[in-house]
Amino acid sequence: MTEDLDRLGRDVREFVAATGVVARCDSWMRGFDQEFSRAVGKRGWIGMTWPRRYGGGERSNEARLVVTEELLRAGAPVAAHWTADRQIGPAILRYGSEELRAEFLPAICRGDVVFCLGLSETEAGSDLAAVRTRAVAVDGGWEITGAKLWTTSAHHATHAYVLARTGTGDSKHQGLTEFLVDMDNPGITVRPILDLVGEHHFNEMLLDRVFVPERRVIGTVGAGWSQVTEQLAFERGGVERFLSTYPLLAAMVGCARRSPDRAAVERIGALAARLTALRRLGYEIAAALDAGEAPVRQAAESKLLGTHFEKDVVEVARYVLDVCDGDADAFALLADGIAAVPAGSIRGGSSEIMRTVISRAEAGR
Ligand SMILES: Cc1cc2nc3c(=O)[nH]c(=O)nc-3n(C[C@H](O)[C@H](O)[C@H](O)COP(=O)(O)OP(=O)(O)OC[C@H]3O[C@@H](n4cnc5c(N)ncnc54)[C@H](O)[C@@H]3O)c2cc1C
Repeated sequence: MTEDLDRLGRDVREFVAATGVVARCDSWMRGFDQEFSRAVGKRGWIGMTWPRRYGGGERSNEARLVVTEELLRAGAPVAAHWTADRQIGPAILRYGSEELRAEFLPAICRGDVVFCLGLSETEAGSDLAAVRTRAVAVDGGWEITGAKLWTTSAHHATHAYVLARTGTGDSKHQGLTEFLVDMDNPGITVRPILDLVGEHHFNEMLLDRVFVPERRVIGTVGAGWSQVTEQLAFERGGVERFLSTYPLLAAMVGCARRSPDRAAVERIGALAARLTALRRLGYEIAAALDAGEAPVRQAAESKLLGTHFEKDVVEVARYVLDVCDGDADAFALLADGIAAVPAGSIRGGSSEIMRTVISRAEAGR
């Protein structure tokens, strides 16, 4: 790593330490704090790779990776800007009109807008091409009606990304369109869904004839499928897929230092070796993005392996905290981890789907 990136990592660590963040596992979903996100934005760490004229920093994806790694390692509350920074901004940058870019990208960089993702529905999760939410052309725009499910942070969001059917086509992959929708539209109802420990992170989002002006279409009407496929690589390829439980791993190391146990040290060492390989993959993905490629296969590999790694972190922590006298903070992180990891093999695409993506890419399809 270059000196410049080393310094960047140090800056982020100092920033996080100064804010007195209490570390959480899965902080990119569970840690919602818009003021924290605004402070991150002020430092220039949202939209880091985007052009300066839209508020970005024109930095490399590698530099962005340094920042995201440090924020996740600290378990910092980054949920308010995570989705917009990771995938909505890049989608707008790639396919959005100049008007859309000017409206949203600087606001995302400041941490002023919060996006939720309206992709999944009752009959469309793994198979997104089956979405039934429909947008009908009306004077000046579109009217969207449908029901989205598992919409993380919809109760906090200022805007939603919504994938809807605008036409019929020869195949179900045709006739899909991407929209940006204001959450204060009167046709939107958000109903909470509680997770297995009773926390409220995701929702059902109902849309009843929600008017969306024409300028809020991302890219080409009917070309939503190919556009969203690329967006999913951004969603899956990030280091959050294996660093969600890093605070727990760090806590284990602390406990094993204070109360050494041979088996505990060996198990932590095995996890550290796997983490090193996953980090390497993370940096390869960033380099591919910097080279203008869409690393769809590597992103699926990272998510698949990362998900299994995170489950093992929690399993090893059960043992280590027990034999190495874990303290209350470490057990709180374990509780977080136990609640978070079951979702890993489902959200952002299930492990079975990741295997399909990888094998198709290998077969050149
Ligand atoms: C914590 C969490 C947060 C989420 N946040 C959001 C969000 O913000 N926005 C959003 O839109 N969605 C969100 N989701 C939804 C998530 O993307 C879907 O749950 C996921 O894509 C799987 O879809 P599904 O639940 O409909 O399962 P299904 O597609 O019904 O799959 C059920 C099972 O069948 C298997 N399966 C399905 N098809 C195949 C196949 N072709 N080959 C092999 N196996 C198959 C799957 O692997 C899975 O095991 C979230 C989910 C979770 C758990």
